[in-house]
Amino acid sequence: PPAYPRGSTHAEVDVPTLGRVELPVGLFIDNTWRPASTGSTFSTVNPATGESLLSIAHASSEDVDAAVKSARLAFKTTWGNNVHAAERGAALNRLADLMERDKDRLAAVESLNSGKGIRMARDSDVADSIGCLRYYAGLADKFHGQTIPHYGTEKFVYTVHQPIGVCGQIIPWNYPLLMWAWKVAPALAAGCCVIMKPSELTPLTALMLCDLAKEAGIPSGVMSTLPGLGSTTGDAIARHMDIDKIAFTGSVVTGRKISVAAAESNLKKVTLELGGKSPIMVFDSAHVEKAADWTAMGIWFNSGQDCCAGSRVYVQDGVYEEFAAALKKRAEATGIGMPSDDKTSFGPLISEVQRDKVMTYIEGGKEQGARVVTGGKRWAKSDGGFWVEPTILADVHDEMTCVKEEIFGPVIALSRFTSESEALERANSTTYGLAAAVFTRDTQQAMRMSAALDAGTVWVNQYALIHPGAPFGGFKQSGVGRELGTYGLEAYTQVKAVHHNLSQTVEWPL
Ligand code: NAD
Repeated sequence: PPAYPRGSTHAEVDVPTLGRVELPVGLFIDNTWRPASTGSTFSTVNPATGESLLSIAHASSEDVDAAVKSARLAFKTTWGNNVHAAERGAALNRLADLMERDKDRLAAVESLNSGKGIRMARDSDVADSIGCLRYYAGLADKFHGQTIPHYGTEKFVYTVHQPIGVCGQIIPWNYPLLMWAWKVAPALAAGCCVIMKPSELTPLTALMLCDLAKEAGIPSGVMSTLPGLGSTTGDAIARHMDIDKIAFTGSVVTGRKISVAAAESNLKKVTLELGGKSPIMVFDSAHVEKAADWTAMGIWFNSGQDCCAGSRVYVQDGVYEEFAAALKKRAEATGIGMPSDDKTSFGPLISEVQRDKVMTYIEGGKEQGARVVTGGKRWAKSDGGFWVEPTILADVHDEMTCVKEEIFGPVIALSRFTSESEALERANSTTYGLAAAVFTRDTQQAMRMSAALDAGTVWVNQYALIHPGAPFGGFKQSGVGRELGTYGLEAYTQVKAVHHNLSQTVEWPL
């Protein structure tokens, strides 16, 4: 029988396309559900209506302690170095199978909680999360150390990659499932145990995944999930003395706080995926229509709430007007609508605060002299929801706030340039360095720009495509470390060098 009455850890809610369903709203520790030790809760909102959806348990620092104890025990007994890497990979594959089985249910709840269109949630977020799990399931037993020949045949050094241990993982609201997968999959593949804190704005799918992890046979303590606010639950995780690493995705401001908390506590290892203000450069030789297609996707996908959104667009003089017109057409054809509609590709922003912040940037841009080509307003048909129309601010100059700061909304700052060196200089003149793109049919130019751009990801004649095998992360203040690919697995391991003497001879007897 459950340790706590079901009503204290589960609640019913109406989910479009599913009807009335029961969802977990508690904390997941020791593979069981419990309410917060303090009884505290917070509420999560439907961004398409502004209405409250569910009350969620708010984990306290005592709850963080309990989860860490459970994780440490699992790390020493049922996970970590105690389980063959292939078995950990098999568990991830079973979890991916269950996500596949429940993909419509996961997509419906993701869409309800985050506001993204249900088709996007299903075909992009859920599908890519499954892809990430399968990638790391396959990689788990293929990540080897090295053998280093040393002193002839009698002595040698070998390295082993061991899991770091207990990892805190703190994720944002823009891709709740995908950010969960990017964090949990490499950590579990490496043999780490995780304490997951989803964003307080979008905790629902991370909670649903706990039952699937248990059903997949992932042992108790390997994956705890603690919903809560950043300043309380998040801070307690970042400061915990028995957490070995923290992996964070979110804003630069929070990343800085987490680095300080980690440094002030036990110097836990830190990886950070932070914000961006990514430039797109369209050269005269580009295929203008295709560049406009990719740019539209680069900024309006997920309603602009994307860390690598291509929000600064520099277009060479010869194609500036043509490109602006092509982009306007795409903005006005965007599938803006209710998240539950299969045709919707552009949903509301996550919250009232976010909507107001984006509108302030638009108004500020107008005051500083930007020309509104299209959008610039709240969506007239929204009924309590937080939509802002796809927006193009043209003829901007580099000192405007809307060009310098991350907006995290559907707003493009468009300006013209004359020479390649000018474009490069302006593209790199930011404290961020997450992503950048170049549209050109001149291969040499693409090579020169790719080499010189200060960005962790450079796209040539495309935008926003990410592959689980390709590392992702930021130059400059866009982050520390890399996720995805072998680099992402490495970030959850530590290397041990074992110096082995086969002959027992003593080299330098004293
Ligand atoms: P945020 O920094 O406010 O919150 C992110 C997470 O951190 C949430 O779970 C929050 O509860 C937690 N948090 C907040 N304060 C904390 C504290 N003091 N200690 C510990 N945890 C704390 O960011 P957000 O508003 O949720 O997300 C938007 C930001 O995330 C944008 O700046 C965006 O660019 C960035 N982002 C980056 C990437 C990337 O991969 N680089 C991906 C998605 C989002």
